[in-house]
Parts: sequence; structure tokens; C-alpha cells
Amino acid sequence: MEKKIKIAIYPGSFDPITNGHVDIINRASNLFDKLIITVASNNTKKALLSIDRRVDILNKTFSNKANIEIDYFNGLLVDYAIRKNVFTIVRGLRTLSDFEYEFRMAIINRNLDKRIETIFLMTDEKYSHISSSSIKEIYNLNGDINQFVPKTVSKTLCNLKNEKNNK
Ligand code: ADP
Repeated sequence: MEKKIKIAIYPGSFDPITNGHVDIINRASNLFDKLIITVASNNTKKALLSIDRRVDILNKTFSNKANIEIDYFNGLLVDYAIRKNVFTIVRGLRTLSDFEYEFRMAIINRNLDKRIETIFLMTDEKYSHISSSSIKEIYNLNGDINQFVPKTVSKTLCNLKNEKNNK
């Protein structure tokens, strides 16, 4: 019998991507033949980075990983999964409040399409305190974010600050 290629989607805002996301991505890319990281572009959270910038950062961060594809989507994740014909979703879990939200989303997504399975990876404790929103807060208050994010994020945010200061 022909061997099926196992593909998963890791969706998120990634505004910006943190070392916590990178850890989940590295672990998931070891579990699946291919991992599609896809930026959700219709999130209601106030965005720091444009979708283009987020996609660019992801491309640069994972350029050395042959089994990772970067993409973005509008609308429902379930519709994106159907378009891609990939029904395994990866999500990361940090706290109990993550669990409550993710539990609801996983059930809703399965109600929308029975083929969807959501797989959860527990954060490494090193990253359990890191969130994109805390990075945004530190950045907006001129704090040092270097230890929490990949180098490309630090560089992009530094350029963004310079662009703003030069306006
Ligand atoms: P969303 O806005 O869809 O929650 P995020 O970019 O904030 O997107 O997060 C994407 C996924 O990564 C979510 O499943 C989230 O719980 C998970 N995640 C975020 N930060 C971490 C972290 N530090 N460790 C593990 N998982 C994380």
C-alpha cells in the first residue's frame, strides 16, 4: 500500500513569533512529514506587524527547514484546511486558560468539519511564560525582547522603531 504523507497545519497570529512558537514548530516538524505554518490574517487582536512582515519573518526563521511551508489565510481555518486538503491542526498549550479556549475551538472546528483533528503540544516549561502580547507590551515600553524571540523578530522590530522615529 502507498505510504500516506502526514501533513499538519500550525495556525496562529504570530504577531510576532516567539521562542515558544519556534519550539512547538520544531517539535511538530519532527512529528509530521510536512508542517504548514499559516498566519491568520483576520484576527481581531490589535496587530503590531503586517501579514507580509509576519510571513517574511517566518520564511527567514525556517529557511533551513525543508519540510516547513509558510502561508497565510483569511476567513475560517476549517475552510483553509479544506482548500489545502489537510485536516490535522497543531496548537500549543501553556496554561489552563489556553486549554479552555483551545478546547472550545477544537470542538467548534470538529463540528464544522468532522475530518478535523486538533493535536496539542505542551509548551516546554522554558517558554510557558512567553506570549506575543507580552512581547508587544515590552516592545512598546522600549524593553529588551531579545531573549524571548528569534533574531529576525528583534531585527524587524528594531527597523520598525527606526521607521517610526524617522517619520
Ligand atoms: P492565536 O491568536 O491563534 O492564539 P498565537 O500566535 O497567539 O495565535 O498562538 C498560536 C498557537 O501557539 C496557539 O495554540 C498558542 O496557544 C500557542 N502558543 C503561543 N505561545 C506559546 C508558547 N510560549 N508555548 C507554546 N505554545 C504557544
